[in-house]
Amino acid sequence: MNNTFELGPIRPPSEAFSVLIRVTRNCPWNRCRFCHTYKGEKFSRRSVEEIISDIDAIHNIAGRILSTARSYGDDMLITEKILQEAARGDSASPFYYNQIAFWLQHGMKSVFLQDADSLILKTDQVIQILTHIKQKFPSVERITTYARAKTISKKSAEEMQQLRDAGLSRLHLGMESGSDAVLERIQKGVTQQELIDAGQKAVQAGFDLSFYYMPGIGGKEHMEENAIESAKVVRAVNPTFIRIRSTVPLPDTPLYQMMEAGEWTPLTEEEKLAEIRLFIEHCQDITSQLLSDHMMNLLEDIEGKFPEDRDVMLGKIDSFFAMPREDREKFIIGRRIGIFRYLSHFHDNPQVNSLYATIKSRYTTIDEAVLEILKNYI
Ligand code: SF4
Repeated sequence: MNNTFELGPIRPPSEAFSVLIRVTRNCPWNRCRFCHTYKGEKFSRRSVEEIISDIDAIHNIAGRILSTARSYGDDMLITEKILQEAARGDSASPFYYNQIAFWLQHGMKSVFLQDADSLILKTDQVIQILTHIKQKFPSVERITTYARAKTISKKSAEEMQQLRDAGLSRLHLGMESGSDAVLERIQKGVTQQELIDAGQKAVQAGFDLSFYYMPGIGGKEHMEENAIESAKVVRAVNPTFIRIRSTVPLPDTPLYQMMEAGEWTPLTEEEKLAEIRLFIEHCQDITSQLLSDHMMNLLEDIEGKFPEDRDVMLGKIDSFFAMPREDREKFIIGRRIGIFRYLSHFHDNPQVNSLYATIKSRYTTIDEAVLEILKNYI
């Protein structure tokens, strides 16, 4: 017996407790200028048979672990000994058993379909996969995937409803920017109108929709437009979640080359924050939850629900800007080396002070040093 299943490289942070089921490999578009995740990797669709075989392998492993745990009198605490016993006679690596044990310990409630654009499969194929997941794992309450707006825009409202009814419940959609000029510059392959149409279609079908917004992706050239036009898309869609992903130009991306050629100018940490402030100011008449759930964002504190938390979120940004320059710069350094996560964590820290002094003596600006730190961070 060999219970193995294929895994893709990434999932959203909010899917940390989900089991991952790979339905396609890599990204069918793969041209966004800021993205390095699948560069050089060829896109392919997996067959429904392959995917079902993976789901069955996950089911087999889960069954073996649970029955072994029960034989030890406890199906809640899965120890190393239980895992070894469960895997006896299976040539699959312990890695697979560890993956599923982790999922079991978190209640087997959520599933994430990989990779970048699962809805590129035919609707009836996705439905077959969803049906099999629900049949094998009745405990699953949420099935999520990444989806490109362009792909959703090609699905009919009926197809979206069928997918929702079959159990797909949450979509993560990379808006990045709502500005047509920026979308074109970053080669997102989608227009503002397509983003709005896709978002509205998903919301109308009853999906929990996560929209990703990238402060700074327009560079200094399109900073205001990036905020205002992104807020315009968000207002038209009213997604369940808005997730902030601050832009960092990574060395192996075309965006980095644009920066080196002087065609795109990165925002400083403070400018990105100012852009977020402008975005939030323009997010009116929505009920979305804003999340800063990524280490690339300067302030993870900026979280809350519109409209009631809007002023609180703006207030947090204002508190940062009200700090003396040296404290702001020390917070930025401390944040980038993992000492501070929230603004409330800020304190006089010898490690930060020492690095701050070194950076000041070697770099013209703090942001030059931050770019170096971030390059090596991701
Ligand atoms: S669609 Fe997503 S995964 Fe594909 S290149 Fe763009 S950002 Fe990267």
